[in-house]
Amino acid sequence: MDTEVESLTDTAQMEIEEPVPTPIPMEPPRIHLLDQAVVNRIAAGEVVQRPVSAVKELIENSLDADSTSISVVVKDGGLKLIQVSDDGHGIPYDDLPILCERHTTSKLSKFEDLQSIKSMGFRGEALASMTYVGHVTVTTITKGQLHGYRATYRDGIMEHEPKACAAVKGTQIMIENLFYNMSARRKTLQNSADDYPKIVDLICRFAIHHSSVSFSCRKHGAARPDVHSVVTSSRLDAIRSVYGVSVARNLIKIDASDSDPSSSVFSMDGFISNSNYIAKKTIMVLFINDRLVECGALKRAIEIVYTATLPKASKPFIYMSIKLPTEHVDVNIHPTKREVSLLNQEIIIEKIQSAIELKLRSSNESRTFDEQMVDPSFSGSMAVGKDSPNNPSSSGLKSQKVPVHKMVRTDSQDPAGRLHAYLQIKPSNQLQGSSCLTSVRSSIRQRRNPRETADLTSIQELVKEIDSSCHSGLLDIVGHCTYIGMADDVFALLQHNTHLYLANVVNLSKELMYQQVLRRFAHFNAIQLSDPAKLQELIILALKEEDLDPEGNENEDLKEKIAEMNTELLKQKTEMLEEYFGICIEPNGNLSRIPVILDQYTPDMDRVPEFVLCLGNDVDWDNEKNCFQTIAASIGNFYAMHPPLLPNPSGNGLQCYKRRVLSRSPGGGNFSETAEDVKENEFDHELLLEAENAWAQREWSIQHILFPSMRLFLKPPTSMATNGTFVQVASLEKLYKIFERC
Ligand code: ADP
Ligand code: MG
Repeated sequence: MDTEVESLTDTAQMEIEEPVPTPIPMEPPRIHLLDQAVVNRIAAGEVVQRPVSAVKELIENSLDADSTSISVVVKDGGLKLIQVSDDGHGIPYDDLPILCERHTTSKLSKFEDLQSIKSMGFRGEALASMTYVGHVTVTTITKGQLHGYRATYRDGIMEHEPKACAAVKGTQIMIENLFYNMSARRKTLQNSADDYPKIVDLICRFAIHHSSVSFSCRKHGAARPDVHSVVTSSRLDAIRSVYGVSVARNLIKIDASDSDPSSSVFSMDGFISNSNYIAKKTIMVLFINDRLVECGALKRAIEIVYTATLPKASKPFIYMSIKLPTEHVDVNIHPTKREVSLLNQEIIIEKIQSAIELKLRSSNESRTFDEQMVDPSFSGSMAVGKDSPNNPSSSGLKSQKVPVHKMVRTDSQDPAGRLHAYLQIKPSNQLQGSSCLTSVRSSIRQRRNPRETADLTSIQELVKEIDSSCHSGLLDIVGHCTYIGMADDVFALLQHNTHLYLANVVNLSKELMYQQVLRRFAHFNAIQLSDPAKLQELIILALKEEDLDPEGNENEDLKEKIAEMNTELLKQKTEMLEEYFGICIEPNGNLSRIPVILDQYTPDMDRVPEFVLCLGNDVDWDNEKNCFQTIAASIGNFYAMHPPLLPNPSGNGLQCYKRRVLSRSPGGGNFSETAEDVKENEFDHELLLEAENAWAQREWSIQHILFPSMRLFLKPPTSMATNGTFVQVASLEKLYKIFERC
């Protein structure tokens, strides 16, 4: 600020002392050839953008050298040291002098070779680049030699004759002090979170595709590796060993292919997550012709299928390997070969989308809950529609010919009938014949101890209260309205007869969920959380979110105390919470299951902490009726279709949100200009995608789950007629009157 004022005064003074001379036309700047060292350093900065890109190049070299074991050691996020050792064929002694020169490679001779190239490298640029931005040491031994050689490199040049040394089979490449001569990049990287998690993620990806190679990765000095994959012939085993059982048990095998040269030639196989899988971020591991690549268009296309097919707000896990004739892939469009471009990309994407959609639909239909138990009275009331629930294919999605991603929203003339396509109702005969453990267990319990069962009078009273406060006019509206669309973040536009209404979907869904909790009391199916969460941590999280000043830690102890007390309290109530409300808390204090309130609907998991806090804080545990009511209300609030926590991508809140989050991230504001741009762009893109998905998902649920269910189950309370939940915005008759006057 000060300097700005000073410089302004300087200019002002100058202006007074001498008049500004008329500018002399400047000579255009002259063009000259850049020094080779400068060229190489610029190029190097592009190929090795960050430590993880160096690791990727080194692993690819090891894979190209037919290695069966590759181990990576990283120090200081890769800035101090990256060391990749393999047991591949090694590098001949005679090639060592030119090994790190630019454009020296053993993988390509003529340009035409690119068309059929199978190796991952081909440009001969990676090792050279590394020598321009770090200190490179290579130790290698080839077959039949008694000892190996070690050489060090700087700026593409071997620093001294290779020294004989002891070596085990293969090659070890060590990069030290990466970006030692690029202070801006180094600073940026030091300020941002370190690359180690990215490196681990990268190796996990390689490990599941190259399951015949054993990978390991550890931090320098650490005794145990963070990734260690073993050689296996089963892809699923490989995924299990790297990503864990919780991912592997929720995967479906998928494949697709086409061999018609007039459309596309490809084959694809892989694994995708099913409807029980819950995650906040998409994991897409994509290999095209055995190259680890990204394909934004394909990823988005698959996310759309998930959003449209599965009603859960979960992002998918996808491992996919696509094989194409080599001449159909242009591997040369990206300096780090990260993105590739495919011939007939759109057709291939469409075929893959259809295959995934088909799989998801069939897996969705056969989705099993942990407890197969449906309230028989509930299924009775389902037979309201025209279609028989036993024959769901007679309407709705199942008979749909148009693929979901091409579907346009239309208003159904037969709203009630549509429901059956979305709800999974067991045919009633099957239900009666069901001998599942839970129903057997609960019927035994009923006989033994009738007081414990669902005919508790307080529940009956609460349900009666719902019936008696129901507003008949509103009941008619929700029962016979047509959903038009969302007018803004919370209001939906509905048409009923000749009237147009705005209806608050948050209030409506909250009430619907509340009523359903009471009606389904003690008869809930379960949603199993793939990662059971500690109650205590959830409560602390919620308290922090509530806190206006999250940085201030003077209340930390208090929060701990509140969390501890609430956890203890909830632990004492586990039996009741599980039996009556399907909320399962394990003895170790982990929340592991929540109830299904509306079939096919999963609440926004970002709201779990708030929910757990409510259970501890807002529930009246002393009086039975109040207790049930407040628990039902807390569940109702949790399951309500609130606007997602991410801002609406079509509104302008995204910019503010982005600024807020970015400024909170470590080192925010310290980036050099270009790095900030890169980070911002990445952030922009991811955030936008995530927000788009969350909002699309919610709108889908509102249209396909909330409205059909409301038609059948909601008894709108009288208060909704006056509290702004319903607002009449137009009436056809009145519009006619206006026109008559004109
Ligand atoms: P490219 O992989 O594009 O050929 P690089 O600069 O990555 O270029 O590597 C240059 C050459 O060094 C490779 O062509 C290969 O012959 C050799 N090389 C690099 N790493 C290894 C390794 N781990 N084992 C055997 N040879 C290697
Ligand atoms: Mg290479």
